[in-house]
Amino acid sequence: MSVRVVARIRPLLKQESASDIIVHAAPAGADPHGAPTVVKIPNPKNDAEQFSFQFNSVYGADATQQQVFDCEVAPTVKHLFNGGDVTLFAYGVTGTGKTHTMRGGKSLADRGVIPRLLSGIFRRGRKVMSSGTHIEVRMSYYEIYNDRVYDLFEPPEKRTAAGLPIRDNGGKSVVVGLTERPCETLKDFETLYDAANINRSTSATKLNAHSSRSHAILCVKLHQTTGETTTVSTASAIDLAGSEDNRRTENNKDRMVESASINKSLFVLAQCVEAISRKQPRVPYRESKMTRILSLGQNNGLTVMILNLAPVRSYHLDTLSSLNFANRTK
Ligand code: ADP
Ligand code: MG
Repeated sequence: MSVRVVARIRPLLKQESASDIIVHAAPAGADPHGAPTVVKIPNPKNDAEQFSFQFNSVYGADATQQQVFDCEVAPTVKHLFNGGDVTLFAYGVTGTGKTHTMRGGKSLADRGVIPRLLSGIFRRGRKVMSSGTHIEVRMSYYEIYNDRVYDLFEPPEKRTAAGLPIRDNGGKSVVVGLTERPCETLKDFETLYDAANINRSTSATKLNAHSSRSHAILCVKLHQTTGETTTVSTASAIDLAGSEDNRRTENNKDRMVESASINKSLFVLAQCVEAISRKQPRVPYRESKMTRILSLGQNNGLTVMILNLAPVRSYHLDTLSSLNFANRTK
C-alpha cells in the first residue's frame, strides 16, 4: 500500500487580481529551477512570516492536464494492470479546481484525470488483448450526500430518501442495487459519464449547490482473463465535497447537517490516508461510508491525493486548513 500526496494550485480566475496571490509553489532544495515540492503561504497573523508545506510534488498554475496525467495517473494505470487497486482523490475548498482536475473541460487538452484514466486503460487494454489476455471494463458512478449513497446512472426521480444500502459481502462492503455498466470504448465511457454528470447537476438545481456538498465516486473495474484465470482490479476516482467549513458562514439546519457529515467523512479519510502512509496495521476505513465502500487501504492499493488550492488571499484560512489536512496524512 502506498500514498502520494500532491498539491495543485489553480491559475487566477478573471475576477481575481495578481496582487492578491499569496500561495506559491517552490522547489525544496537550493536550486531555483528544481521541480517544486513545497507550497508557501504567509501566516495570516503576520504577512512577513511564511509557512512551508512539503508534498511529493506540487503543480503550479501553468501545469497542464497532460502533466498531471503523466506523473500521477499513468503510474496508476500500470498498477491497475498489475492487479493492484487504485484510488485517486481531489480534495479542496469549493472553487479550487477539483472538478477541473478530475473531470476537466471539453477540449482534448483540457480533459481531466478521469477521462485520461479511461483512455489510458483502453490504450493499455488493446496491447494486453493483442498478447492474448481478454479484458473487460465495467463502471459504476455514485455520489455520497449526507452519508447516503445515490446511483448517478439512475435519474434523480428514482432516488429514495434513504439512498442505497451497504452490505458486507465476503469481507468487502458493497452498495446494494448499484448499476454497473460495461464499457468497451472511450466513446462508451464518455456517453455514460456525461449523462451521469447531467443527473448530478439536475439534483443540484433542486438542492442549492448540492454538487459541492457531495462526494462523486467513479469506480472502474478491470477484469483481465488469461486462460482460466481472471483477476479483477479497481480504480476509484473521487471528486470530494468542498472541504470549506460551512459552519463559519452558514447556520441553517440543512447546512449544519451537511457540514457535519462532510467533516466526518473527510476526517476519517485523513485518518485512513495517514494510517496507510505510516504503514500502520489498522486503517479505520470502516468508520465512514465512503472509506468503507472504497475499502481504503485494504488491498494492494495505490492512493493518490491531489490537494487543490486557490492562489489568492480570499481563500487564506481555508487554504491553510487544507494544507494542515494534507500535512496530517504524511
Ligand atoms: P471545484 O470543483 O473545486 O469547486 P472547479 O473545478 O469548478 O472547482 O474550478 C473553479 C474554477 O476554476 C472553474 O472555472 C475552473 O474552470 C477553473 N479552474 C480550476 N483549475 C483550473 C486550471 N488548472 N486551469 C484553468 N482553470 C481552472
Ligand atoms: Mg466541483
